[in-house]
Amino acid sequence: MIKDPEAHVMGQFLGSDQGPTVVFISGIHGNEPAGVMALEEVCREIREAEIIPKGSFYALKGNLQALKQGKRFIDEDLNRIWHKERIEGLPSKKDLNNEEREMQSLLMIINTILKESPPPFYFIDLHSTSGDSHPFITINDALINRNFARQFQLPIILGIEEYLAGPLLNYLNLEGWLSLGLEVGQHDAPVSVKNAISLIWVTLVFTGLLKASECPGYEGHRSRIKEAAGGLHGFYEIFYRERISTGDQFKMVPGYRNFDPVPARTLVAARNGQEITTKQDGILFMPLYQAQGEDGYFLVRDIPAWILRLSVLTRKIRSKGVLAMLPGIEVSEQDHEDLYVTARTFRWLGKPVFHLLGYRCTVLENGNYRLTNREFRAKSRAYHGTPWRNGQFA
Ligand SMILES: [Zn+2]
Repeated sequence: MIKDPEAHVMGQFLGSDQGPTVVFISGIHGNEPAGVMALEEVCREIREAEIIPKGSFYALKGNLQALKQGKRFIDEDLNRIWHKERIEGLPSKKDLNNEEREMQSLLMIINTILKESPPPFYFIDLHSTSGDSHPFITINDALINRNFARQFQLPIILGIEEYLAGPLLNYLNLEGWLSLGLEVGQHDAPVSVKNAISLIWVTLVFTGLLKASECPGYEGHRSRIKEAAGGLHGFYEIFYRERISTGDQFKMVPGYRNFDPVPARTLVAARNGQEITTKQDGILFMPLYQAQGEDGYFLVRDIPAWILRLSVLTRKIRSKGVLAMLPGIEVSEQDHEDLYVTARTFRWLGKPVFHLLGYRCTVLENGNYRLTNREFRAKSRAYHGTPWRNGQFA
């Protein structure tokens, strides 16, 4: 059992049998209480029905202070600070701000879980959106994440980690564990709590922690999710981000829903009184309808099925050695997994090629790129023999 003086742990259920270990995190943004309420409800039901899982289940609460105040964060966004350097610097830093303190206690809990509970691990981060939305999933594009996420039959967004610095899920992914973000709907809509409850229950079944027959109302949860998806499903990639700088007055045109198609030259927002229109056709993603936040909106597009299939094949090739022979590409000295690519070579080969091969591309300050391969890091073997590997629930 985890000792937790600050009450980040809302529930911990340690089953009689070996693995998996499923960890839910809620309220990492303090203005997103739906996930917290849903986890409370599921924990209550598990206790009352005296359900004993096959494996371990942890329900965690993220930004405690921000949740109390109903704000996204107190000093800085808790979901943008999970950088390796920052984490390593915590013990020696004096005067931690609120989010650094929250991160420190969460890290302690996560590390204890990783040490004391059996693999494979599943990390699920519950969020909600400021605008009206169908539920959807965000993942780092590793094949284990893709295959697991498929079962929910919700829209799945790939590549958000290339646009966001320091989200918790990216940190866990670099450790090699399966992790996904579940966006359950609009922040305060009562239906978001219901969506979240259904998503938590089916996750417990998909991971093998519970049998479908042990999950109260399993079929009802599945059909609720299907209905909430509103016919949206499949994989999408982000190709555009409208960034907000500090001090900007940003305002979306009212009435947009997440996943609304927007043709090129549509008026979507205003910044400091200047109109913003889209430059190409796309699907509007996460339009910002709240005061705090760094991203105005994103544009996404469908990923064709043949590209998804092709990328499964290309990732089986150890591409690193071949790429390293090309001019403008270097294998990092410190970290064997990463490649450094000059801006010129990056443009010449093109981002889609690196994506196919499983690389996450981040632009560096000097304009060159750092490429991290998600497949090399993924602890895929730990998930062999799990119920979802053969697409049982898809
Ligand atoms: Zn959030």
